[in-house]
Amino acid sequence: MLDPETTRQSDLRGGEPPWRDEPHFPPPRPLAGDGRCGVLVVGAGITGALAAQHLAASGHDVLVLDRGRPGFGSTAASTAMLQWEIDRPLTELADLYGFARAARVYRRSFAAADGLCGLIDDLGLDCGMRRRRSVFLAADTGDVADLEAEHALRRRAGLPGSFLDHGALRDAFGFDRPAAIVAPGSADADPLQLSLRLLRAALAAGARLHAGDAVAYEQQGRSVLVGCADGRVVEAGHVVLATGYVMPDFVPGRLHRLVSSWALATPRQAPGQLWRERALVWEAGSPYLYARTTPDDRIVVGGEDDERMVEPADRERASSAKTAVLLAKLRRLWPAAEARADHVWSGVFGTTADGLPLIGPVPDRPRVIAAYGYGGNGITFSFLASRMIRRLVAGGREPWFDDFALDRDGA
Ligand SMILES: Cc1cc2nc3c(=O)[nH]c(=O)nc-3n(C[C@H](O)[C@H](O)[C@H](O)COP(=O)(O)OP(=O)(O)OC[C@H]3O[C@@H](n4cnc5c(N)ncnc54)[C@H](O)[C@@H]3O)c2cc1C
Repeated sequence: MLDPETTRQSDLRGGEPPWRDEPHFPPPRPLAGDGRCGVLVVGAGITGALAAQHLAASGHDVLVLDRGRPGFGSTAASTAMLQWEIDRPLTELADLYGFARAARVYRRSFAAADGLCGLIDDLGLDCGMRRRRSVFLAADTGDVADLEAEHALRRRAGLPGSFLDHGALRDAFGFDRPAAIVAPGSADADPLQLSLRLLRAALAAGARLHAGDAVAYEQQGRSVLVGCADGRVVEAGHVVLATGYVMPDFVPGRLHRLVSSWALATPRQAPGQLWRERALVWEAGSPYLYARTTPDDRIVVGGEDDERMVEPADRERASSAKTAVLLAKLRRLWPAAEARADHVWSGVFGTTADGLPLIGPVPDRPRVIAAYGYGGNGITFSFLASRMIRRLVAGGREPWFDDFALDRDGA
């Protein structure tokens, strides 16, 4: 099991994703002395970057600390499909929580994906973001009735999308599967560029970024004193824990579990060899398969999640077998692909029993807000978290925040 104190970024991911590094991103310096700020954001991955940018742009005095390289935790391993479809189908979520609550969560996720794309456009972030439709495939004929039920419930919830049978799917996208739901509202991007450019936007809005390893948290009056491994102390009005999958022990983790996931990127495909619209593809099934393309014409496929292999050495050992399975599945999905692996990587995924993220104040520590457990929908939920966090820091809250509470009753 990964230990919050000793886990380092290199434990969260391995291999070489195809994302663009930014060699000129200034390495954060340690704090020169003790610090003070309105909001301390611990962790400079996509969650910390989104929260810091939003808080700083709203006038808060923000300090961001990271004990490693900003963006190089799980964020750098992400395949960055920016989707609103949640890991748990709406039908399953409705069985669990009732239709009204499940539909509300799905609509929030839809709005979050849209809001994220709007933010990228508004800030002019050069991160390769491309709006995309998603194609949710039935893996075999046994899945068709489930897919039809999912489509009907999504329509009832006011969510967009069309159901395509085998023939319509073949004509529209060329996939040889029994059926699919095709829906607008998603996107893809380079996750490293997205998080680093958001951090730059946060810095431009007045946030400060430093190197630091937060190890102790103590409430004192209306402040939280955060002790760092080098002995520095930061006094903050609020603390945002954006530490990814290594939360401190006092954050409830009952619903949370770690999963490893594998991904690869092919060489550039020949002109005309990619599927129409370069849509995002998600194939139902266990284990599931997903695929996207990159602006330089590679295919990225991922999946093969495994809960038993979160230790880096186990993940590394499994890598070539997982790669072989992903390539075989790619050949079956898209026979025209040049199915070789140019980049192979893996990373740790945090997921929850009900498929919803954990976002909100830590019980008994109202000035400490945690955001994690996003599952495969991570970046969309990080955006949602940033909006909730700003509201919580301002002393507000909404009844629907309970849907994501750290101590909710979940399956
Ligand atoms: C293979 C793979 C594929 C994925 N694909 C997708 C996808 O297609 N779409 C999607 O939306 N999501 C996807 N995800 C999930 C997504 O990547 C994550 O949800 C997201 O990156 C989490 O970001 P984060 O900022 O919360 O965590 P991280 O990126 O891990 O950042 C946490 C940061 O906190 C720092 N930190 C930790 N502890 C401390 C401390 N005590 N003091 C200071 N700093 C600390 C770390 O150094 C790190 O930089 C995928 C994940 C994996 C592994």
